[in-house]
Amino acid sequence: MENGNVSAIFGEKVFNLPTMKARLPKDIYKSLVKTINEGTKLDISVAEVVANAMKDWAIENGCTHYTHWFQPMTGLTAEKHDSFIQPTEDRTVIMEFSGKELVMGEPDASSFPSGGLRATFEARGYTAWDPTSFAFIKDNSLYIPTSFMSYTGEVLDKKTPLLRSEAAINKAAKRVLALFGKTPARVVSYVGPEQEYFLVDKNLRNKRKDLLLTGRTLFGAKPAKGQEMDDHYFGQIKEHIAAFMKEVDEELWKLGVLAKTKHNEVAPAQHEIAPIFSTTNISTDHNQLTMEILKKVADHHDLYCLLHEKPYEGINGSGKHNNWSIGTSDGELLLKPGRKPEQNVQFLLFLAAVIKAVDDYSDILRVSVATAGNDHRLGANEAPPAIISVYLGDQLAAVVEQLKNGEGVKYEEGRVIETGVESLPDIERDSTDRNRTSPFAFTGNRFEFRAPGSRQSIGGINIVLNTIVAEELTEFAEILEGSQNIQKDALELAIKTFKDHERIIFNGNGYSDEWVEEAERRGLLNLKTTPDAMPYFKSQKSIDLFVGQGVFSKVEVETRTEIMMEEYNNTLHFEMLTMLEMAKQEILPACLKYTKFVTDDVLSKKSLGIDAPLEFSKVQKLTALTEDMMSKIDDLQAKADAVPTDDVFETGHYYAYTVMPAMESLREVADTLETMVAKEYWPFPTYTELLYLQ
Ligand code: ADP
Ligand code: MG
Repeated sequence: MENGNVSAIFGEKVFNLPTMKARLPKDIYKSLVKTINEGTKLDISVAEVVANAMKDWAIENGCTHYTHWFQPMTGLTAEKHDSFIQPTEDRTVIMEFSGKELVMGEPDASSFPSGGLRATFEARGYTAWDPTSFAFIKDNSLYIPTSFMSYTGEVLDKKTPLLRSEAAINKAAKRVLALFGKTPARVVSYVGPEQEYFLVDKNLRNKRKDLLLTGRTLFGAKPAKGQEMDDHYFGQIKEHIAAFMKEVDEELWKLGVLAKTKHNEVAPAQHEIAPIFSTTNISTDHNQLTMEILKKVADHHDLYCLLHEKPYEGINGSGKHNNWSIGTSDGELLLKPGRKPEQNVQFLLFLAAVIKAVDDYSDILRVSVATAGNDHRLGANEAPPAIISVYLGDQLAAVVEQLKNGEGVKYEEGRVIETGVESLPDIERDSTDRNRTSPFAFTGNRFEFRAPGSRQSIGGINIVLNTIVAEELTEFAEILEGSQNIQKDALELAIKTFKDHERIIFNGNGYSDEWVEEAERRGLLNLKTTPDAMPYFKSQKSIDLFVGQGVFSKVEVETRTEIMMEEYNNTLHFEMLTMLEMAKQEILPACLKYTKFVTDDVLSKKSLGIDAPLEFSKVQKLTALTEDMMSKIDDLQAKADAVPTDDVFETGHYYAYTVMPAMESLREVADTLETMVAKEYWPFPTYTELLYLQ
């Protein structure tokens, strides 16, 4: 970009509304916009015209191919490219793209995770166009965002259930709003995801098998300088990192992503990028694109972008803060307290619904952030604990507290309610006292869910958030429909809810040990690992929730649980094998070589009659540690040979509680050896190089 005018490039690679308007006949444009805004069904004749216009636009912009772009359960995106060519009778080609090709695709589904669906159903899969997320151009292909499902209609992706959960929250919230005499066309959920990541020198990264194969370091002694100095957070951005960030922003803007904020994070070589929030569906697509662009652009700058939740031990990991809210198509944010929240009964009711949702379904919410990578973060004194709780901030907590105590709530027909709550400062402006240690914090007009891991798709997280809140709103609507005095009854219901669910509210330090004890006293769950959490996702309560809200079928809940568990097991499996390989093939030979070097030194000194006691004791230490390491390699190998395979949950438990401790103790001795072995003997780059040489 020559000058700084972003609007000149924003969305230039997107088949967005202005492009559609310019290229489609008026009536076609109108009916497409109706589909986008209201979810009405699209006629195939309309799709035919849209496909043709899309193709012309794509070809003019250098495309030869198109692809349905979908989000299988891997958490990544998938694509299969077809060219636009069609043979003609005279053995030449023309470029064609039909309405049917736009609307539906048929990739082979058999290699994507299906959690057992594959065994019982056909392997074929379908992709279906999602017109609400615009098509875009990348690498000379036209990308069409799609849903992905099996031949028999079971969803195999993260987009379809997300769209269903948006429909659920729309329906439930509209029922509640109707009680207050409001009838917006739609209620939508919004997300602004703050994305953390590390950058590392590409060549250094390529020298480490662990980073190459697992995305995190499985070995590595602490660097002389860690993050104690706090000099990186919001610090000056190095010139070539700034060049990388500039290119990322420009690529994202061209793709219509509202990239807004960038800064250095707490750890060395750690950074963050955040967009302006959009609806959850768009935001999820855009976050996937953001992660992809970060990787791609890093490569242009001889860097590698680590999205893993915990690439370095002893150094802060990376999360993805999921800022979530709901609002109406008229622009009303439903979690915005306004100046007098105590009198804003509608707000209090929505707030109560969120609090109740988090308390009733804290287990499922915990599962939504349960991954092998994130297990290293949650509860490790740098990220919110694995215990789910809600932080309201001082002012709002005071409102809730006083309402609960029932100090002078008065209802009078036609008048403002007097709640007896002392007048409080404007919450929105004064929400600076944000509690960074809470997993689920109210921040002015939204909740910030801070537990998600940096590498996760936000699809799964927001499916859960939307669904659990939709469930509570539905319940509230059922209680309140038919009320003669909605202000009074809704306020009473909100207050009752605050009382019933007070255990989930915690405004203190979430990192402290006292909280762990206190949470236990309150009966809150502390699901430390993914295998601990995962079974909750397929409990009867969970099935009832998802089936009831029309988000998943029973089979979909069960297969999804299976897939998530398998993913955890696979991750641990590869980490275990990579660790063994590095230890046996790289670290052990290096230690033996270096020990020999010191031994030779001792021997040659001895032959000259020089006593070398310190050198000798170094040989002894190296030998003892190397032997210790060899026995730990054998121990991990024995455990690797005995992984149970009958049941995914049993396997997961074995990885978490038998394999992981063995991996940790092997790492410990190897890291100690790293501090003793000469640099030139050590087989791969150290933490200092990885963290400080980019
Ligand atoms: P922080 O202080 O947590 O870094 P920011 O001001 O950078 O907060 O905002 C974080 C994210 O929250 C941004 O993506 C922003 O667009 C998003 N956000 C702001 N308001 C809302 C809202 N009502 N709903 C969802 N996301 C929001
Ligand atoms: Mg934040």
